[in-house]
Amino acid sequence: MLDKLQSLRQEALDALAAVKDAQALEAFRIRYLGRKSEFATLLRGVGKLPKEERPRAGALANEIRAELEGLYTAKKQELAGWRQTRTAVDCSLPGRRTVPGHPHPVTRMMEEVCGIFEAMGFTVAEGPDVELDFYNFEALNIPSHHPARDMHDTFYIADSVLLRTHTSPMQIRAMEAGEPPLRMIAPGKVYRCDSDVTHTPMFHQVEGFLVDRRVSFADLKGVLGAFVAQVFDGDVPLRFRPSFFPFTEPSAEVDIGCMICRGTGCRVCKQTGWIEILGAGMIDPAVFTSVGYDPEQVSGFAFGLGVERIAMLKYGIDDLRLFYDNDLRFLRQF
Ligand SMILES: [Zn+2]
Repeated sequence: MLDKLQSLRQEALDALAAVKDAQALEAFRIRYLGRKSEFATLLRGVGKLPKEERPRAGALANEIRAELEGLYTAKKQELAGWRQTRTAVDCSLPGRRTVPGHPHPVTRMMEEVCGIFEAMGFTVAEGPDVELDFYNFEALNIPSHHPARDMHDTFYIADSVLLRTHTSPMQIRAMEAGEPPLRMIAPGKVYRCDSDVTHTPMFHQVEGFLVDRRVSFADLKGVLGAFVAQVFDGDVPLRFRPSFFPFTEPSAEVDIGCMICRGTGCRVCKQTGWIEILGAGMIDPAVFTSVGYDPEQVSGFAFGLGVERIAMLKYGIDDLRLFYDNDLRFLRQF
């Protein structure tokens, strides 16, 4: 009996070694491990052996069965793995490219704008999006009855709490916290209840200001000229048009020469040869008074620019809403 078991084991091992595919493996299982296999017949024979031979024969039979089952499972996995590898790797297929992410064009533009002013010695300050009426309007020389409030289309949260309509409140916070000289820019989101081709309810602004003794309009022109030359890579003409902002006096809207038509007139510049890019002016004495500075001693300038607007001009984008559609075909161009 023991000899029979041993020779059956050897036969099974040889048979398994010759198995090359799933079909042959299944034939092996039926032949050596199935209920009607030779092995099963032998096992049943163990019960009919003389009492003293049964334990040894039983132990050997169990040992051999466990060994064959283990080898069978291993072979099955090996065959399955071999098949998977054959179908999963096709070396002739082109590779799948992973597209690396990158900052949003507005973020990039904002970083570029901040970088240019930082190189000129301006520090960067960020403030709260939810602002007090006092910082957003009152201290900037826009009292509650002032008609300039209508220009802002403000989102109010409570009576004196609102979503900031510009980042100019940082001017007040900075002047309250420190003494001149101050050179600072305040980048961030601002909110206005307005939406069309050139307006979104949320957009990005960079406010900048400089306060010191004997600061003049010429300093403002010099700083803005240096900024425009860097951001648009070249000698772009600047034009200051008289304007009105409650917190600056005198105030100006600043135009640059149209880089598309070089000043000869086109659709983008509405045939004028000029494109408005920002608002600026000398800080109004009333603003200095509201933060406790003496307007006789200090002077300064301030300017505010829309980040999306600069990006549109720089990259030739004609619809502001493209920035917020999250269309990958648009975003991947940057
Ligand atoms: Zn033009």
